Amino acid sequence: MAFEGLSNRLQSVFSKLRGKGKLTEDDVNEALREVRLALLEADVNFKVVKDFVAKVRERAIGQEVLQSFTPGMVVVDIVNKELTALMGGTQSKLARANKPPTVIMMAGLQGAGKTTTTGKLAKMLQQQNHRPLLAAADIYRPAAIKQLQVLGEQLKIPVFALGDKVSPVDIARQALQHAKDNHNDYLIIDTAGRLHIDENLMDELKQIAQAVSPDEILLVVDAMTGQDAVNVAESFHKQLELTGVVLTKLDGDTRGGAALSVKAVTGCPIKFAAMGEKMDALEPFHPERMASRILGMGDMLTLIEKAQAGIDADKAKEMERKLRQAEFTFDDFLDQMEQVKKLGPLDQILDMLPGAGKLKGMKDVKVDDKQMARIAAIVKSMTKEERQNPDLLSPSRRKRLAAGSGNSVQDVNRFIKQFDDMRKMMKQFSSMMGPKGAKQMKN
Ligand code: GDP
Repeated sequence: MAFEGLSNRLQSVFSKLRGKGKLTEDDVNEALREVRLALLEADVNFKVVKDFVAKVRERAIGQEVLQSFTPGMVVVDIVNKELTALMGGTQSKLARANKPPTVIMMAGLQGAGKTTTTGKLAKMLQQQNHRPLLAAADIYRPAAIKQLQVLGEQLKIPVFALGDKVSPVDIARQALQHAKDNHNDYLIIDTAGRLHIDENLMDELKQIAQAVSPDEILLVVDAMTGQDAVNVAESFHKQLELTGVVLTKLDGDTRGGAALSVKAVTGCPIKFAAMGEKMDALEPFHPERMASRILGMGDMLTLIEKAQAGIDADKAKEMERKLRQAEFTFDDFLDQMEQVKKLGPLDQILDMLPGAGKLKGMKDVKVDDKQMARIAAIVKSMTKEERQNPDLLSPSRRKRLAAGSGNSVQDVNRFIKQFDDMRKMMKQFSSMMGPKGAKQMKN
C-alpha cells in the first residue's frame, strides 16, 4: 500500500513524543530530524521537505506546545495540518461550465493510466446522474481508440470516434458539437500520450485546447514514478496551464513522494487519486483525508461514502434484521462478502480505519480476494439445507465440502467454527440489546 513506509516511520516518531509528559526544544528538534529523513526517503522533493520542516518547527517550538500537557498530540496535530496544507488544503473540485457541456481534456505520458482514468471519471459522473460523452483523440497508439470503445461499451457510455485518419483537433471539435447536439453535459477527451515529452505532443495538445476551450485540463501521472511524476507535471504545466492532476497507481508500492510534492512544486492541485485497475477505483482527492491516512488516523469519511455508493440500502436493512434475530445463514454470509467486496480490496479498507495498521497481528492478515474466493467455494459446495443449518455439517459432510471446494478439512472446520462463533456472538449481542437487555444495561 502507498505511503506504508512513510506512515510507519511518522507514527513511530510520534509515539515516542506522545510518551513524554513535557517536551523540550531538543525533543522537538530530534523528532523533526526524523520526520525530515522519513519524507526524503518517501521521495518527497528536497525543497518541499525543507520548507515543510521549517514550518512545523516554527509552530512546534511555540510556547503552547512545550507547555501543553499533551505536547506529543499537539505536534501530531501541527504535522497533520501542515501535511494537509502541503497537498492543497481543501479538496479541489471538478470545474463545471456555466453552459454545458463541461469539457475535460485528459493529458499524460503513455502508460500513466490516461485512458483507464478517462473511463473511471466518466463512470463517476454517470453515477452522479450526468451524461458524459467520451472522445477518442489518441490516433497514434495502436488500439487506443478500441480500448476506449471497449470501456464505453462496458460502462454504457457513448464514445465519439472518427478513426485514426482524422486529426485529433478535428476529432475534438466535432466531438464537442456532437455532445451539444446530443445533450451530453460532460465531454471527456482522451488525447495521445508519448513516451517522453516532445514538442509535437505539446503543440497538438495546445491546438486541441485552443479548439475546444476546455474547462479542465487534467494531467494523469503515475505515482509510482515519484519525482519523475512531479517533473512531468511541471513541464506540462508550463506549456498547457493544467487545471489539475490525477495521481494513478496509488494502490501500488509507491512511497508517496509525488502526492506530497506535486501541489507544492507546480501549484497545480491533485483532483483525483486512482487506486486500482478497476473502473470504480477512482476517488476525489481530499488533502485532509490523505494526511489523516498517512498519519494512521484513518479516513472514515471516504469509507462511509464508498459504502453509501456501493451498498444496497434495502439489503443492508434486511441484513441488520437478520443479525438482530440471529437468523444469519451461510447464504447471508456470502451475500455480505459480496457487499464488502464492492468497497474495494480489504487492505485498502483497513487503511481507512483509524489505528487499524497498529492492531495486533493486522499486518499479517492478508484477507485477499483469493482467500475470500476459497471461503466462498466452501459455502457454494454446501447443499441448500446445509447453508441454512450449520448443525447438519457432520464430519463426513465436511470431508465432502473440503473435496468439493479444494480446501483441507482443517480449513473447512476452521471456517465453520468461525461462523458458529460469530452467530453465537450475535445471539448474545441481540439478547443484550433486546428490551430486557437494554434494561439490564441501564441498571
Ligand atoms: P495510457 O497509456 O496513459 O492511456 O494508460 P492506460 O490507461 O492504458 O493504463 C496503463 C496501465 O496502467 C494499464 O494496464 C492500466 O490497467 C494500469 N492502471 C491505470 N491506472 C491504474 C491504477 O490506479 N492502479 C493500477 N494498479 N494500475 C493502473
